[in-house]
Amino acid sequence: MPEANMEFLKREFFKYYYENLDQLVPPGPIKNREFGFFLDKSRGMLRHKCFINLDEFHNFVLNEVPLDIYVSAARYEDPSNRDMQEKKLISAELFFDIDAEPTVSESEESAWVCQNCGKYDLGTEDKCPVCNSPVERAEIVNENQLNEALKEVKKLVEVLRSDFGIDENHISVFFSGNRGYHVHVDQEEFINITAEGRREIVDYLLIQGFEEKRIMHLLKNRSFYSGDLKGIIGRIYRMILEAGGDKIPRNKRRILKQINEIIEEFKVKVDPVVTIDIHRLMRMPGSINSNSGMVKKRVRLQDLSSFNPLKDAVALGEGETVLRVKAVPRFNLGGKSFGPFKDEEVELPAYAAAYIICKGLGEYVRR
Ligand SMILES: [Zn+2]
Repeated sequence: MPEANMEFLKREFFKYYYENLDQLVPPGPIKNREFGFFLDKSRGMLRHKCFINLDEFHNFVLNEVPLDIYVSAARYEDPSNRDMQEKKLISAELFFDIDAEPTVSESEESAWVCQNCGKYDLGTEDKCPVCNSPVERAEIVNENQLNEALKEVKKLVEVLRSDFGIDENHISVFFSGNRGYHVHVDQEEFINITAEGRREIVDYLLIQGFEEKRIMHLLKNRSFYSGDLKGIIGRIYRMILEAGGDKIPRNKRRILKQINEIIEEFKVKVDPVVTIDIHRLMRMPGSINSNSGMVKKRVRLQDLSSFNPLKDAVALGEGETVLRVKAVPRFNLGGKSFGPFKDEEVELPAYAAAYIICKGLGEYVRR
């Protein structure tokens, strides 16, 4: 990343952290958590950091102004130990990651950069027209894609509540600051679950290994149906009965097709790898995501429907910033629409300039 870009980001990030330090509170107890940081883009993650109290952590953030901040979902006896076993796990929050799928249709909504020869343009190329290398697509998500991800979050919260019996007060939803949502669960019975147990939860959410013949069996012996079947099997069974009116569907192929459609609808599209990994570092709540310059923001359950990530998670200031832009598709941020831009010098609010810089599509010129 060019020096001028880095200086601009660090200046803006510092301003944000300095003014919003009270928002940057890791899950407790702080002395039992492992922290990770990206201090600049060229170096790897600084891991195994540990702080004895909040002040020490805040001083570190203000001094180093990290590009990204992570904290372990797990609590350890010795979090700064570099050996995972020697860290001595105490417990770990259940942690889910749901990402928006960037589906790009219009060429105006996408841009690409060739890492091999440096060529870039608006559009949806897969291969560089100059050197034929695969290109890197600009990762810009829009409201619709984020809304799809939010639907999955609502499904997840519903399953956690009704099928797992998790109390609402122990479910926290966050916008990740870029292209998805994180859901944390810290209810006592769930923080001691092993990796295998977490895998089973993921299988349940993704409806892996669902046995259609159990439904077939229920349909055949409808008299056994008591109306209080729990979980996925109950939901699928009831949907099939509802769809068939009062008649029990008999065509086997049609029922199987119906089951699969219902499974697609009920399946919660979480990232399995994230949930199963007990030692995972998760993006720190209240921290800036350097893939966008937006903040990882808590969304209260009652606000899930009204939350607007591209507005509510904007963290940086409005100060006019001049930027030399390579190619940036149209994007919405902070309630405004920007672009598309191609090979031009533009004046933008700092938060939009940071967004373009974070996506690697522009260079800071001046304030
Ligand atoms: Zn190329």
